[in-house]
Amino acid sequence: MAEEIKLKKAVNKRRTFAIISHPDAGKTTITEQLLLFGGVVREAGTVKGRGSNNFAKSDWMEIEQKRGISVTSSVMQFDYDGKRINILDTPGHEDFSEDTYRTLMAVDSAVMVIDGAKGIEPQTRKLFKICKMRGIPIFTFINKFDRDAREPLDLMNEIEETLGIETYPMDWPIGMGRQFLGVYDRFNHRVALTHPTDPEKPYLPLGEDGMVDGDNPIAGEGEWQDALDGIELVEMAGNEFDEDKIAAGDQTPVFFGSALTNFGVKTFLETYLKFAPAPSPHKQEAGEAVKPLDSEFSGFVFKIQANMNPKHRDRIAFVRICSGEFTRGMDVTLERTGKPLRLSNVTEFMANTRENVETAVAGDIIGLYDTGNFQIGDSIFTGKQPIKFEKLPQFTPELFVRVSAKNVMKQKSFHKGINQLVQEGAVQLYQSYTSNDYILGAVGQLQFEVFKFRMQNEYNSEVIMEPLGKKTARWIDPEQLDTKMASSRNLLVKDIHGDPLFLFENQFAESWFKQKYPDVKLTAKL
Ligand code: GDP
Repeated sequence: MAEEIKLKKAVNKRRTFAIISHPDAGKTTITEQLLLFGGVVREAGTVKGRGSNNFAKSDWMEIEQKRGISVTSSVMQFDYDGKRINILDTPGHEDFSEDTYRTLMAVDSAVMVIDGAKGIEPQTRKLFKICKMRGIPIFTFINKFDRDAREPLDLMNEIEETLGIETYPMDWPIGMGRQFLGVYDRFNHRVALTHPTDPEKPYLPLGEDGMVDGDNPIAGEGEWQDALDGIELVEMAGNEFDEDKIAAGDQTPVFFGSALTNFGVKTFLETYLKFAPAPSPHKQEAGEAVKPLDSEFSGFVFKIQANMNPKHRDRIAFVRICSGEFTRGMDVTLERTGKPLRLSNVTEFMANTRENVETAVAGDIIGLYDTGNFQIGDSIFTGKQPIKFEKLPQFTPELFVRVSAKNVMKQKSFHKGINQLVQEGAVQLYQSYTSNDYILGAVGQLQFEVFKFRMQNEYNSEVIMEPLGKKTARWIDPEQLDTKMASSRNLLVKDIHGDPLFLFENQFAESWFKQKYPDVKLTAKL
């Protein structure tokens, strides 16, 4: 009984989320501010460049530094206001959106950061769709109001129209750019000032009538009047605050601020924590969803990452705990193989070392040192009842290359490297149906570059890549397959499960094929 209460208390404290945004909207800057509030970092500007505290800089990260992009995804944990927060970082570059998609399967809510001058950008739209599909709550922070931005009403309309979600402005900006005076905080019923005369008093109370004290100089500013007009409009014509809709991902609370000047981020965090959900049930492929307070432990691997410590060539499998409690050294079953596994070598992403006596519970992420046992999407569990979580979304790759080892004498390291990197989900592997050629598929070119770099650096295997260009992948029922159907315009390959598919050169090639073989069924995904 006492155990149950302890678990319930610990699980209900967890808030696990990811930040989604288009590159440059300010995700890193906001993350830093959040870590600052959590007491994890002492100064801003420390997250990028150094990488996360726990991990040594790896060779792989060199690529990120050279290109100034973030391709790794890590986990940051800290305590705030009695809650334990897990932020799952997502790679910003769109070539790695598959990693982000999987990460979004491991969170309970998402924070959408939008550049106030740019509004909704393509990457945000794509990632938003996944959140929407999962029905998780989405909280919006409109950033960079210390610069000239678009009209707030215009931004609200854009979110509603392009994303199909209701908005509820929690606050409203008073001016922007140099004249960004603060926000009218509807939710907390106060005005937050960007430049208070007394730094100890950053907030002005609002009277019953929703106005500041008439003596206050802000009441004389044109920006103030504009903000009041805006507020009046959303009060009259806007949506009503609806917690159920927020929980279902049908309404997004919207906040305005400036991450760079650290304005509005704290209010955002505090309000977010009031409404963000604790760990929720996770669906299985069949049968009932797994509840976080179930006493048996369960979780799934949503990411595998190699080489965080360049001295050890092992990998880390990131597991989202979906139910129960993890304790070091516990025995679990790996669902895919049915085999038992002991979880002894584990990283918890504790930023706060004082706290690391506590074990991890549902909602947390643990990193398991992996010597090749895990694959992305694997479920692990304790107890007699097998648990198999629903499949993670998989992209159909669009870009393909033929790959071979430069040095034919080094086939062993070539194969080892390919197999491990494919298991990590970095690229997808196909093999020519008739010859033994290896073909790699990816969402973006950069994935191939990372692959090549890592093959050389981690497996000492120099590879030759011959670009095959864009292709449309279509699977075919093996029963209907005749190898004579293949041509140079529709390459016949098999995937890692041995299932056959064609890589069509273009739409035209596909239509031609369909006309020629009207009875053959082609499918876009497995
Ligand atoms: P990310 O790519 O989404 O992680 O974006 P970053 O946090 O790296 O920010 C991109 C650029 O925008 C950096 O030069 C930041 O300094 C800048 N930036 C971030 N937030 C703000 C903001 O609130 N105001 C202004 N003026 N610049 C910002």
